[in-house]
Amino acid sequence: MDFALSDEQRMVQQMVREFACREVAPVIRDYDRAQEMAPFILPRLAELGILGICIPVRYGGQGMDYISLGLACEELEAVDTTLRVILSVHIGLNSLGIFQWGTEEQKQRFLTRQARGDKIACFALTEPAAGSDVTGIKSTARRVGNEYILNGEKMWISLATKADNALVIARTNPEMLDPHEGLTAFVVEMDSPGVSRGDIHGKLGVRAGSTGWIAFQDVKVPAENRLGEEGEGFKIAMACLDNGRYTVASGATGLIRACLEASVKYAHERQAFGREIGKFQLVQHKIAWMVQSYEAARLLYLRAGWMKNKGQRNTRETSLAKWFATDASFQAASEAIQIHGAYGYSDEYEVERYLRNAKGAMIYEGTSEIHQLMQAGYALEYRHDNPLRCELPAYDEDFWQ
Ligand SMILES: Cc1cc2nc3c(=O)[nH]c(=O)nc-3n(C[C@H](O)[C@H](O)[C@H](O)COP(=O)(O)OP(=O)(O)OC[C@H]3O[C@@H](n4cnc5c(N)ncnc54)[C@H](O)[C@@H]3O)c2cc1C
Repeated sequence: MDFALSDEQRMVQQMVREFACREVAPVIRDYDRAQEMAPFILPRLAELGILGICIPVRYGGQGMDYISLGLACEELEAVDTTLRVILSVHIGLNSLGIFQWGTEEQKQRFLTRQARGDKIACFALTEPAAGSDVTGIKSTARRVGNEYILNGEKMWISLATKADNALVIARTNPEMLDPHEGLTAFVVEMDSPGVSRGDIHGKLGVRAGSTGWIAFQDVKVPAENRLGEEGEGFKIAMACLDNGRYTVASGATGLIRACLEASVKYAHERQAFGREIGKFQLVQHKIAWMVQSYEAARLLYLRAGWMKNKGQRNTRETSLAKWFATDASFQAASEAIQIHGAYGYSDEYEVERYLRNAKGAMIYEGTSEIHQLMQAGYALEYRHDNPLRCELPAYDEDFWQ
């Protein structure tokens, strides 16, 4: 594995960093306080091509590789988690799902517009009574002629009120003995009659982002909007999570870096007992630990990105990268607040927002406990990945450009 970045990858990194630092960093505290997404964010991400960064040019994207997606996520979350969440759901959980499982017609209809940022996409798996245990999904899609009639409620959906298209997992066959088998994936257009949605307020973190609920009441979904085969919904959802988790891992790596940079700066500025606090070994211990966590998290996500580029199955590696980076980012934010003392406890400094934002990533896209179960399952050989009917395509420069 060669993780030296190409000129193109460095260019992406630089462009995304400049956007986040110049345009978002100065206003993010106000939007976090107001619990609103800044209205310029989605249009600017679209304009800069970031919403289709790793999608082939023929499908409206920028034609970059999967490592470029990770680098963009790292830069976005180093400023605010809500920016990275947009890429997680719009690209990781939705657009790459359509790229992997969609027909050519679906790619032309949905992916192209999403990659250009003309349409915003979200991913609706979780329900009020079904989170980690997807088999608890109660939403139903009943086939009637050339349509499915969709009923049910989805909860905790990022971009619920911003999205034009949602990738929805619903039960098409309640009779199946194995409840994983009766699920099917659909691309649902959010302006369809019978769709209602709203935002969830009072969240601990990602306050400058959008998280909401979506209800479906007798929504007519054309059969051509079904992604994959009937009964493939569980496999499709898990494949989408392989891509979403990669963006969470790379983003959380950026959050660790932000904690480290803020801590180093403050440790130089703040004086106690006649010297800057960076001179104290206990403060150094925290900073050294952040360096270690950042470097390890970065290598783990780069390995997963490299495997995606090669077209290799990476469920195990991506889960490990996500679990490690999100737990470490929460710990790094907590230590960063400790280094900042009382000032870290107020939103005058960024680190308290980092802590609130970091907690969510230990819950969504597989809780830390679910990732521990997965890692133990692989180690004990209880868990194996079978080949998928549609694998995520390996990065191929000729095809992508
Ligand atoms: C900010 C935010 C954004 C989100 N965005 C989306 C989105 O865009 N789309 C979407 O579909 N969902 C989204 N979610 C939902 C998220 O994916 C779920 O919250 C997550 O899967 C956990 O499900 P749950 O909250 O129902 O917790 P539960 O599954 O009820 O788990 C509760 C606790 O029990 C533990 N637990 C459960 N099962 C086991 C087990 N077998 N062994 C050990 N411990 C276990 C969990 O680890 C957790 O600690 C989002 C959530 C948040 C907070």
